[in-house]
Amino acid sequence: MIGIIGGGLAAAKLVEAYRESGGEDEITIWSQDPHGPYHRPPLSKRLLRGESRPEDALVHPVDWYAENGVQLRLGEKLSSLDDAQAGTVVIATGSRPRTLDGTLALRTLDDSLELRRRAGEATTATVIGGGFVGCEVTASLTHLGVQVTQVVRDPMVFAPLQAPPLSEALHDTFRARGVELRLAATELPPADLVVAGIGVEPNVELARDAGLEVRSGIVVDERFQTARAGIYAIGDVAEFYDPLYRRHRRIEHWSNAAYHGTTLGRILAGEDARYDTVSSFFSEEFGKSFKVFGDASGHDSTSLEGDFHGDSAVLRFAANGHVIAAVLTGQDEAGEEALQAEIRAGAAAVE
Ligand SMILES: Cc1cc2nc3c(=O)[nH]c(=O)nc-3n(C[C@H](O)[C@H](O)[C@H](O)COP(=O)(O)OP(=O)(O)OC[C@H]3O[C@@H](n4cnc5c(N)ncnc54)[C@H](O)[C@@H]3O)c2cc1C
Repeated sequence: MIGIIGGGLAAAKLVEAYRESGGEDEITIWSQDPHGPYHRPPLSKRLLRGESRPEDALVHPVDWYAENGVQLRLGEKLSSLDDAQAGTVVIATGSRPRTLDGTLALRTLDDSLELRRRAGEATTATVIGGGFVGCEVTASLTHLGVQVTQVVRDPMVFAPLQAPPLSEALHDTFRARGVELRLAATELPPADLVVAGIGVEPNVELARDAGLEVRSGIVVDERFQTARAGIYAIGDVAEFYDPLYRRHRRIEHWSNAAYHGTTLGRILAGEDARYDTVSSFFSEEFGKSFKVFGDASGHDSTSLEGDFHGDSAVLRFAANGHVIAAVLTGQDEAGEEALQAEIRAGAAAVE
């Protein structure tokens, strides 16, 4: 039996790929959340703006799990790996938001519905944080007619991306839409609603209590296996080995959780798969989206093609003359694939 602890995107993609690859073992998913596995990106975008319904966010309709031989135990939190009583245990517990007293956080479907309800009663909001949750909530609340002040500790939004041309274009867009952006600031103006998007902590406690190695996340190899046979970790909670950059990484994004789940599903069904992709993530503000490919850590130069104020731009990050990562907007599929191939070749060539 396969026991999956955590019922988010990574878990749902695992069972889907496992069955598609012919895996026949019984599967149980335990999830603390009362809802079946769902996509979180709409929670700060379409669902928050009231443009989609909660059921649209589900990865599969809840019946799909029983039809595919998966026991879905919703609203159940496991407090030990042993409680799974399975030969194969997958830790897919994701992460939880850092919280600040007196503020709302956004992680779950119910958080999003509550935030939408509160936004309907608010004239003003303060949003804390300049990462993707902070920026997307700012954009969505503004769209709903709430006057938002966004307070960002760093001198620019998305500071960790080290992509000033993107950040500056976003500053201009936000201000043009009426957002009061306070950069390099920590003081919070009073508002009807205060939302914190100040990062997440991975839910590593079960692994730590079981004596598994935990660094920034639960340490696994490129086949998502911990040092203990039969115990795996995927998604936000995993510090996995990325062979492209020849180091361990932890990524808190949708495509990563989907890819980890799909790949481990194939592995558990007996396929010879491993982590083998150029990582990517996306964010969307005011109807415009951008993507990040690869990992820019250790870059020593950048080059910009196009303009993030316009429809098309690519900011390349290079190390020793080799392209290792990019931030982009407005590229077609062929352009994105070419960029990923360039990054794959470049990262492999860096000494
Ligand atoms: C508002 C919001 C917007 C986002 N937008 C984007 C975006 O635009 N682009 C992007 O790339 N990424 C985005 N993300 C990030 C992306 O959604 C996450 O990276 C992804 O959900 C991670 O999936 P996961 O399966 O690893 O974990 P999670 O989705 O966190 O799921 C883990 C599940 O495990 C459950 N659980 C935890 N501990 C236990 C336990 N002990 N027992 C039982 N169950 C447990 C939790 O309740 C949860 O349901 C967004 C995230 C949020 C919150």
